[in-house]
Order: sequence, then C-alpha cells, then structure tokens
Amino acid sequence: MADSPQQVTVLGSTGSIGVSTLDVLARHPARFQVFALAAHSSWEAMAQQCLACNPRYAVLVDEKAAQKLREALADAGSQTQVLSGTRALEEVAEAPEVDTVMAAIVGAAGLLSCFAAVEAGKRVLLANKEVLVMAGGLFMAAARRSGAEILPIDSEHNAIFQCLPLTGGLSAGLDLAALGVSRILLTASGGPFRQASLQELQRVTPEQACAHPNWSMGPKISVDSATMMNKGLEFIEACWLFNAQPANIEVVIHPQSVIHSLVEYIDGSVLAQLGNPDMRTPIANALGAPERLAAGVDSLDLVATARLDFEAPDQARFPCLTLAQEAVATGLNAPAVLNAANEVAVAAFLAEQLSFTAIAGVISATLEQVKFTEPDSLEAVQQADLEARGVAQRLIAASAN
Ligand code: NAD
Ligand code: MG
Repeated sequence: MADSPQQVTVLGSTGSIGVSTLDVLARHPARFQVFALAAHSSWEAMAQQCLACNPRYAVLVDEKAAQKLREALADAGSQTQVLSGTRALEEVAEAPEVDTVMAAIVGAAGLLSCFAAVEAGKRVLLANKEVLVMAGGLFMAAARRSGAEILPIDSEHNAIFQCLPLTGGLSAGLDLAALGVSRILLTASGGPFRQASLQELQRVTPEQACAHPNWSMGPKISVDSATMMNKGLEFIEACWLFNAQPANIEVVIHPQSVIHSLVEYIDGSVLAQLGNPDMRTPIANALGAPERLAAGVDSLDLVATARLDFEAPDQARFPCLTLAQEAVATGLNAPAVLNAANEVAVAAFLAEQLSFTAIAGVISATLEQVKFTEPDSLEAVQQADLEARGVAQRLIAASAN
C-alpha cells in the first residue's frame, strides 16, 4: 500500500453512486483522501459532503448553485475552493495531483470529464456507462495511449471483471479467447415490471418505474432498468470493456440480483460473482483492486435467499434491449444515437410528457431518421448526440399534439 493516501476525485458525488463511494472512502481514511467532489446543482448536499470530507475543490456546474455553496462553506469556515461550469469538471478529473477518478455523473453530461480522466492516465472507476455506449472505441483507445486503468463499477461488469484472471485494471484489446472464455452471461433483474402485461406497461407512472425491487438508484437508471434499456446499454458496455463480440454475450434474467454476472470457460466451468445487491461491493472492489477492502456490506444469507431463478428476457415486452443489441451490431454512431434518444425519452417520461411504452418507439424512430456517421472523434460523437436529441424532441412534441 502506498505511504501517502491516494487522491480521489468523485464526479457525480451527490448521486446514488457518489454517496456510496464516499461511504466506502470514509471507511479507509489512511488510504484515500478526497481531492475534489463534483455535481450539477445540489448545493445543500454538496455542502454537507464538503464539511464531512474536506476536499480541496468542489465543483457545481450550475453557477447560481455554486455561489450558494461558496456562501454556505464560508459561513462554516471550510477551506474548500468552489468552482463552477463544465470545464471545471475536466480540471478536477485531469489535475496532476489526482490518482483515481470515480466517473459517476449520469448520461452524456459525463462524457468530457470522463475522457479528461482517461487521457490524463488516471485510474478510472467507471459507473457512467453512457460514455462507453457513446464512444467506447475512442475511450478504450485513449486508455491504451495514456495507460489509464479502467475499473468497472456497474455491478455486472465488475462481476465479470472479478471472474476473469486479470491482475490490473482493464485496457484496450483484452483477448477473451486466449483466456479460454467462451461466453459472458450478463444477468438482469428484469426490473419492477418483469411480469407486467403489455396493457399494464402502458399505464406505468414514473413513481412505479423508479421503485426497483432490489436496487436503490438514481431516476434515469431506474427507468432504464424498468424498460430494460439498462441491460441494452450494459450489453454495449460489455462489448467495449471486455473486447467481446455480441454473439458471445447472453442476457439472462435473474430476479433475485444475487448473482451479478457469470463467465463461462471452454472447459465448461462457469464462474459467478455473488453478493447482496449493494453498490458498495463493486465500488470497494475497484477502489482496492487487486486488494480487498471492507465495504460495510451485509454478509450474504443464502438460506434466506433460498432460491436463484433464471429466465430468458421477453423481447416483445422489452424492445429496448433489442434496439441496443441492433445498434451495437450496426456500429458507427448508432449506439450514440440510441443513447441520446433514450436520455431524451426517459426525461420526457419522468416529466409525464411521454408514456412508458412510447419510450422504445421514440428511440426506434430516431434511429431510423438519423444517418449514422463514423465515431472517429469526440466532436463527431457529440454531433451525433446533438442531432439525435433534436430528432427525439421533435418526435415527442409531435406525439403530444
Ligand atoms: P444519480 O441521478 O443518483 O446521480 C447523478 C449525479 O450526476 C449527481 O451527483 C448529479 O449532480 C450529477 N449530474 C447530473 N447531471 C450532471 C451534469 N449535467 N453535470 C455534472 N453533474 C451532473 O445517478 P446514479 O444512480 O448515481 O448513476 C450515476 C451513473 O452510474 C449512471 O451512469 C448510472 O447508469 C451508473 N450506475 C448507477 C448504478 C446505481 O446503482 N445507482 C449502478 C450501475 C451504474
Ligand atoms: Mg448494472
């Protein structure tokens, strides 16, 4: 273990993953120091976090919220310096003092700061899966150039990572065949509507969609879990992280969320990672790798769990999974278009402007209307993202009339 504590930046610190990250970090004060915290606008939560872990910098993208935070911290005698604007996210991700960056902003908003961390060669703990969906090829190539170590936080990808014979983090060009891997089994809980009929799905409210049976998460990923787009995004994420072919990844519904994913080898062995559904496990795994760190997670009670069930996903009731699998097969900027349309459609659903079952329709119509380009630069990806957002917004506006 290093003598001086590792300096950690937490992007998205006020969110579900951010709060769990701070919980694990606080358990290991000799090992980690918080260098910077960053979020969008929740200044009251950020003020409390700053007083608890005393970071050098706190970033709030929203200028008005940053000013409120400055005043609150000054009143409390805090030394934390408050920055604002999107460029500040990149600055605290790439600062030379920083060793590790937790990328836990939700959606495309995390793209540039996540890339800044990778290009600066940091150890990057990746929760922000949308970045890999949008620009996985560029992301893995940047990690190879800079030597950045990528550690997956998504519980499924962290489970797969733990079931592979790797010593360091992930970088581009993993050779699954050389490791004897024949298949990756990506588990999915099936979300709150696993057994709902199509008619029932049409009447789903945002509140019902956000009530996940096993996990407590932010609103966007909760809706993604309910539509199963989350598993679609994770399918694409797994292709990039593990350099896997879509044909080698199978999605399996496992309602208990105790097995977090599995890896099958050519000798027939199947390795799984199990644990209570608590994101502090993958977070501690990635923070400590290759060492194990205490995470405050309850011991798994298999007798109380009693059974582990499995079923195939129903692509008719959950078309978003198929849309994502088709987008990764299409390649080019199709996954970036899918992601952008999904972000817009989910926001409209949460704002009660779009029905739950219309989300997939908006994504599929957007994919039909946007011409895919080569994702050969971040600008090209951002352009595809912007165009897809415009198309999706017009489709939603037209459907409301
Ligand atoms: P959340 O909504 O709880 O938190 C999001 C965080 O991002 C907040 O701190 C918010 O302030 C910040 N943010 C939002 N928009 C921003 C912007 N424009 N600029 C800067 N910061 C912004 O989300 P979450 O559930 O913690 O998820 C975060 C990411 O982790 C997502 O990509 C999600 O898919 C992924 N993830 C989450 C879980 C989970 O259990 N919550 C599990 C696996 C993966
Ligand atoms: Mg997941």
